[in-house]
Amino acid sequence: MILILTPNIDPESEVYEHLMAHLSRLQNIRLSVHRVQGTEQALTEIHLIGNTAAVSLEEMRSLPGVERAVRVSEEYRVIGRHRGDGRPAHFDYQGVRFGQDTLNVFAGLCAVDTRENVETMMRALHTQGQVCTRMGAYKPRTSTYSFQGHGRACLPYVFELAGKYGIKIIAMEVTHESHIDEIREALRQTGNPTGVMLQIGTRNTQNFEMLKKVGRQQEFPVLLKRGFGITLDESLHAAEYLASEGNHKIIFGLRGIKTNLGDPHRNFVDFAHVSVVKRLTLMPVCVDPSHAVGSRTSGPEGILDLMHTTAQGVISGANMILVDFHPKPDEALVDGPQALLLKELPYFLEDVRVAREAYLKRKALAERYQSTAKAEDDLCLQAAELA
Ligand code: PEP
Ligand code: MN
Repeated sequence: MILILTPNIDPESEVYEHLMAHLSRLQNIRLSVHRVQGTEQALTEIHLIGNTAAVSLEEMRSLPGVERAVRVSEEYRVIGRHRGDGRPAHFDYQGVRFGQDTLNVFAGLCAVDTRENVETMMRALHTQGQVCTRMGAYKPRTSTYSFQGHGRACLPYVFELAGKYGIKIIAMEVTHESHIDEIREALRQTGNPTGVMLQIGTRNTQNFEMLKKVGRQQEFPVLLKRGFGITLDESLHAAEYLASEGNHKIIFGLRGIKTNLGDPHRNFVDFAHVSVVKRLTLMPVCVDPSHAVGSRTSGPEGILDLMHTTAQGVISGANMILVDFHPKPDEALVDGPQALLLKELPYFLEDVRVAREAYLKRKALAERYQSTAKAEDDLCLQAAELA
């Protein structure tokens, strides 16, 4: 069960102390307190863990200091979408809203290679009015002999250039908890010119100790990618690890799953799961067409598979796109074959706008259909009652 307290409740106040004293007397129930500082208000949730079947929802709702009480199912207690759940399906970071009804594009380099390429990429994004990007500094590679990323060495110039070109958020993968401190320190040294969304890659989806560490900090939001060889349910449980430690600013990333049934794509594209994740949880959903498709092949009409799949994700309501671009894909040190060209950026963004518009039209159509169907059902019911 989750108790949502009145906004900005003071933990030192008498109401709060009485409430905690009352709750701590509940038999076989453990309490876990989550405090989230939003832009406008501080929200406090108290999670009741244990034998909550014996706890009355009505009684909890009537306690001073409690605004709402929600009975949660065993699955995905924090990230889950529960009946009567009035918790928000969005969060703000760096003045940018991430929610189940917004769409943000994170186009950028799979891996930072040269300062020049970082600057060229950021300038192109700025020209297109973009405020988010992706930049890999720590790269998990299959071969130990492959380029592993420049790590902390590149962070100062990446952050400074982001600030120079008005980039507010960089999605950056971390493969070890120490990378969070390195990022925090580099941001501090450069005067916090930008923000970072910590990315947990598909290889680390079930690195539970790292999930706990990333979940314990609330400074940076997290993009958790689904594991490429585990079920969706297992990946959602991984997201719950982050949330149960206190970080609720989580975006769930679909990036394809590993099976040769997806050939000739690099991974089997799983963007049909966009609506599934939105139905089961409160998390905004990201699609990564680059790592899903893995190449620049196109259909007979000349549209890249990568752009088709992006559109498939967006037309089903995806909330974020993580996509590889590179000024010189032939020279890229990681994933050059799947990178889009800088001259394709305006075209890509326009294609995304087309798909988003189609999604919004489909959503409005569904709403019209549902309200008409409901009105018809009500009429039938009334007629049956009169008869
Ligand atoms: C990436 O986005 O650079 C990446 C390595 O992705 P994934 O973890 O999905 O393979
Ligand atoms: Mn990559």
